Amino acid sequence: MRICYTIFAALLLSSFLNAAEEQPNIVFIFMDDHCEQALSAYGDAKMTTPNLDRIANDGMLFTRCYVTNGICGPSRAVIQTGKYSHLNGFVRNGNTFDGSQQTFPKILRKNGYQTAVVGKWHLKSTPQGFDYFDVLVGQGPYYNPPMLFGGIESEATQRDHTGYTTDIIKDKALDWLKSSRDKEKPFMLMFQHKAPHRNWQPGPKYLNWLDDETIPEPATLFDDYSGRASPAANQTMTIKEHMTPSDLKLVAPGNLNPYQLKAWDAAYSKKNADYLAKVDSMTEKEVIQWKYQRYVKDYLRCVRSVDDAVGEVLDYLDEEGLTENTLVVYSSDQGWYLGEHGWFDKRWMYEESLKTPLLAKWPGVIEPGGKSDAIVSNLDFAETFLDAAGADVPADMQGESLVPIFKGEEPKDWRTSFYYHYYEFPGAHSVARHYGVTTGKHKLIHYYQLDEWELFDLEKDPDELKSVYDDADYAEKRSELKKELDRLREQYQVGEDTFVAPVRKPKNKQKGKSGEKKVKPPKA
Ligand code: CA
Repeated sequence: MRICYTIFAALLLSSFLNAAEEQPNIVFIFMDDHCEQALSAYGDAKMTTPNLDRIANDGMLFTRCYVTNGICGPSRAVIQTGKYSHLNGFVRNGNTFDGSQQTFPKILRKNGYQTAVVGKWHLKSTPQGFDYFDVLVGQGPYYNPPMLFGGIESEATQRDHTGYTTDIIKDKALDWLKSSRDKEKPFMLMFQHKAPHRNWQPGPKYLNWLDDETIPEPATLFDDYSGRASPAANQTMTIKEHMTPSDLKLVAPGNLNPYQLKAWDAAYSKKNADYLAKVDSMTEKEVIQWKYQRYVKDYLRCVRSVDDAVGEVLDYLDEEGLTENTLVVYSSDQGWYLGEHGWFDKRWMYEESLKTPLLAKWPGVIEPGGKSDAIVSNLDFAETFLDAAGADVPADMQGESLVPIFKGEEPKDWRTSFYYHYYEFPGAHSVARHYGVTTGKHKLIHYYQLDEWELFDLEKDPDELKSVYDDADYAEKRSELKKELDRLREQYQVGEDTFVAPVRKPKNKQKGKSGEKKVKPPKA
């Protein structure tokens, strides 16, 4: 009997040690509003991103990663909790995240991990469950950001910084990796960038990059919004009408120091003067085309700095011999319109903002060069990190671990449809509340406060230009998707939309950000 106990204890200990040895480090690289149109791993992109592409080349690229609610704060809350917005309580920007609830970093800590978040947080409440946090206050500016520093052992303190925010976040992440973490423990680092969020202020290094290039226009830049329900035409996010002078860099950011301002003016003054000299003789179409070039180039410049920063972190993992036992996951809080439908911004269940890029590498687990078309989501990230760490995934989390897909297995009963829900109306850019279901082939959207519907055949109409909701040929598909929508709403315990109180009044006029001079655009 005693021998049995001894053998049992030895087996238990050895399995524990194996598990401990196998606990991978986790580096979660997160961008804000980065879309696959600006990520060369996805092909046909507007720029080359050699360092982000390293993750895809050494790992796996997901072609159908959908977000549950395509806006910044809600996406972050979903990732923390593995739950839809209506259950984690953060349904729209302006909410405050209840940090006392169950989150994946807290569970990782209980399972021996050291946890850190550096960069954009944007959940209003102070981060909980992190040994170390150093996060932007609110949205955070592109230059000279105040940041909130603290952790489990230290009180939160706000500190000022000088420099370009992308570089500051990268330096802090590297400092923590090199000097501050406990090297005896596995770690989970959330490396989260502000870029390329509006209003796309490039770093000093890339202020003039692309000056001599012309970026191709998307096919739908001049969309007239016919063929869809009323919300598509009633938003306020067009390049044509809704970009401010600061968006277009016709005024400089208000918070640059004299050195930064000098470099900024050297890059923009002449280009602006050239534009202002000719704008009155330009056609409306030419003005839109000019704004598009200005906007997209600035966006790509912001991405380039992050790509450089990612390269430095990946190099560090390589140099320290950490790469072999580190799961690196890259994603963005949602996709983005780089001029598609004439838009900037996100929010819609249309493809460009519903889909977010997702790349993952984990040597020995993920075969290099892999690709998955499975319907996955930011709802799955928490579960994936816990599963990778060998921790139990709580039953009340609503997503699925991606680890079997990482391993090349085809999980049985994997989801074949996906539920989406956007709540922020009234709100910025006036996008009507909607929920819907997509199968990747067909998509049904309900603007429920208006009781308007759209149905898209994504194979025949990938740009979603014509709803076939009222088309008799799609009657069967329509009823099938409505049933599926009901089923998903029940499965995810959606209930009635009780989040009706507006957090802020809709803005009739676009205003410049505080600290920036407000001037009338020369021509809207
Ligand atoms: Ca965002």
